[in-house]
Amino acid sequence: MSLVVNFDDIPDDEEYVFEFVEKPDYFQIDPVEAILKKDVCVRGSLSKMGREVFLKGNISTEMELVCSRCLEPLIYKIRSKISSHYVPGNETEGHETDVELHASDIEMEFYSDDQIDLTQAVYDQMLLSLPLVRLCKTDCQGICSQCGVNRNKENCQCSDKDSIDPRLAVLKTLKDKLK
Ligand SMILES: [Zn+2]
Ligand SMILES: [Zn+2]
Repeated sequence: MSLVVNFDDIPDDEEYVFEFVEKPDYFQIDPVEAILKKDVCVRGSLSKMGREVFLKGNISTEMELVCSRCLEPLIYKIRSKISSHYVPGNETEGHETDVELHASDIEMEFYSDDQIDLTQAVYDQMLLSLPLVRLCKTDCQGICSQCGVNRNKENCQCSDKDSIDPRLAVLKTLKDKLK
């Protein structure tokens, strides 16, 4: 199975090294948010301490995003570190797990049936690694707020100086007429 490692395959005293390559459609990413354009490659290792499993690795892929300024598509390369911590969860009803929860465990996930599923961690990390402000280029000129043209492609006649609200412009014309 994809992005799933069996607990018993992880040796007690060594790291379990893996490399997974998943097709974009393996991940159900909201297409409005971002579109995966390449296979998702996850390389890393799993090690265990008792029943706890620690993931360390790297994700690489490419996503198509939308430029925050001009709304044109842009390709964003993801090169992100990933780490997670898995503890056994609700394997037997009423059976308390003897795993100590540490305050520092922000990225903690549960696994069941001895299957360590990395899918959610990889998915979350890909979206977390996306920048908040997405620019097609650092000096993207964006869209003209008055005429709506993409200023990277066209020079419009609007200038920032006389950026008058169209409603005010009507009043100004009226005033000029009354003079
Ligand atoms: Zn842009
Ligand atoms: Zn304009």
